[in-house]
Amino acid sequence: MGNNNELRHVTASPSALLLPRLEGVITTGKGWRARCPAHGGKSASLSIAEGDNNTLLLHCFTGCSVHDVLAAVGLEVGDLFVRKDLRSMSPAERSQLRQAALLPKWRAALEVLNTEAGAVLIAADQLADNQPLNDADLTRLRVACLRIFDATEVLHAHSDL
Ligand SMILES: [Zn+2]
Repeated sequence: MGNNNELRHVTASPSALLLPRLEGVITTGKGWRARCPAHGGKSASLSIAEGDNNTLLLHCFTGCSVHDVLAAVGLEVGDLFVRKDLRSMSPAERSQLRQAALLPKWRAALEVLNTEAGAVLIAADQLADNQPLNDADLTRLRVACLRIFDATEVLHAHSDL
């Protein structure tokens, strides 16, 4: 546990952390709008609002994921929440924080499963047409299986919450 790191963040609100990293920030009735750092358009397509406990809610109207928006400015999903010492959090708060941090990994894992299922299906179709799989096809198929195993491991991580 990095207690020093946690303490360093205790007073920083998520908006104080994020807003200086964005360009074209304007204040709106409910929060802010800014240029989206992920897709780099000129319009203020990123909407930022503060929810309960100063938790930041982000939405890019062009469809960038929250993870991509934050990654573009060097932040993580956990930075949207007010950092408290974990010991002062309720179990529900802790679980919420961990789930939020896992969400991008779960999404990525689901995408992997989708892509790799496609690769397996192509191989199955090829075999059904009596076309033998060459070395490259077999390697691709083995890679697909390894990626599927990796993805299921990521998805199993929720059982630790
Ligand atoms: Zn965007």
